[in-house]
Amino acid sequence: MATNGMYEIISKKRDGLELAREEIFFVISGYVRGDIPDYQVAAWLMAVYLRGLSERELADLTEIMLASGDRISLDAVPGKKIDKHSTGGVGDKISFVVAPLVAACGVKVPMLSGRGLGHTGGTLDKLESIPGMGVALTPDRFRSVLAETGMVICGQTDSIVPADKKLYALRDATATVSSIPLIASSIMSKKLALGTDGIVLDVKTGSGAFMREEQDALALCRAMVAIGEKTGRPTLGLITNMDQPLGRAVGNSLEIVESIEALKGKGPADIMQVTYALGYAMLRAAGRKVEYKDATAEFDAAIAGGRALDVFRRFIAAQGGDARVCDDYSLLPVAVERAEYEAPAAGFIQAIDSLEVGMAAIDTGAGRRRKEDAIAYGSGFTFRANVGDRVHRGQVIVTVHSDRPDRTADVLARLGAAIRIGPRPVAKPRMVLHIVDKDGARLWTHS
Ligand code: URA
Repeated sequence: MATNGMYEIISKKRDGLELAREEIFFVISGYVRGDIPDYQVAAWLMAVYLRGLSERELADLTEIMLASGDRISLDAVPGKKIDKHSTGGVGDKISFVVAPLVAACGVKVPMLSGRGLGHTGGTLDKLESIPGMGVALTPDRFRSVLAETGMVICGQTDSIVPADKKLYALRDATATVSSIPLIASSIMSKKLALGTDGIVLDVKTGSGAFMREEQDALALCRAMVAIGEKTGRPTLGLITNMDQPLGRAVGNSLEIVESIEALKGKGPADIMQVTYALGYAMLRAAGRKVEYKDATAEFDAAIAGGRALDVFRRFIAAQGGDARVCDDYSLLPVAVERAEYEAPAAGFIQAIDSLEVGMAAIDTGAGRRRKEDAIAYGSGFTFRANVGDRVHRGQVIVTVHSDRPDRTADVLARLGAAIRIGPRPVAKPRMVLHIVDKDGARLWTHS
């Protein structure tokens, strides 16, 4: 019976027609129950991939996916609660800087995060490089850490949007991951499962991003903002640059150190630009009518007064971690070997392919090729120069920290392929490109 109905629904979408809400419900609920076989849902996913979804179909799909599982209510936690989500990149440690910063300015930040797979690192893996840190919390503990410290970060549970887990595995095997409506519904159903007052999205574009093209990143961001707003959740998105690794550190404990340095006022310019832009969007999503320059003054004061670092310390301790790492980096894991990548010629760094850098980081032990792979928490890279910098021949551009000395020659070769040096001076790339809200997308004009 189910499979007959499914045949009609697949053909309707194959022919570019709009599906009714009941038909989308039929597909998703039938698949989660196990009544509809993989091959029919795979065909449906491919039809969606090729034909797209209308705004109404996308909103329906997201709501139906959301309804497939549990939600975490945050009503018992006083104050505004804003979630920040990144579509993933290389060296992306912004959550560890922006969450304590915004919390220090009075807005609570709850996040359900993921692990790294492929070239992008995972927030949970980075946190677990802190000795003792726990990232599996019950909903009650999640709420109490948030209430006590102003922020909380834990892993997604199996009971939140089970439809996404099943659909994502099928998409992964059927070349249907890179579809804007399928990505938008997958991300937003999980965001909406957390009872926040608003959502801020960091949609990355460039060589290390899911959406390499700016126009695709904008389309994805617009689709997600529309879903959030349609369900009554104020949602803002930023399109940010992932054409080079973010900051200087790539790798788990190395990125924790860089984040703590940023909270002490010593963050690299690119990290601080993205952090402040997202922080501003989070204050706006929380209903604060603040101007950008006033938000940045507030952030400067929270860093200078040590309040942002204090939130991070309390958050680490509340989740079982050793908060002394904030003052003593030697408590964090360190790789067994160091090597240097030196500039093969003098000139200016023209580009750093962050996808290649992310793949090379896996070879140091910092990431996983397969879900079950173990992580070497101290491994990764420290960049000594970035795009736009002038370098001389033999200058160290990257320090490699590795737990896999047998792979170091390959890692250095990969870095050589990723880093392009040329005679032409190049401008430092803009980090924040656009802001998207319910009124549409605008160029980001703040520096
Ligand atoms: N991240 C998600 O959660 N879902 C997607 O489909 C892609 C990225």
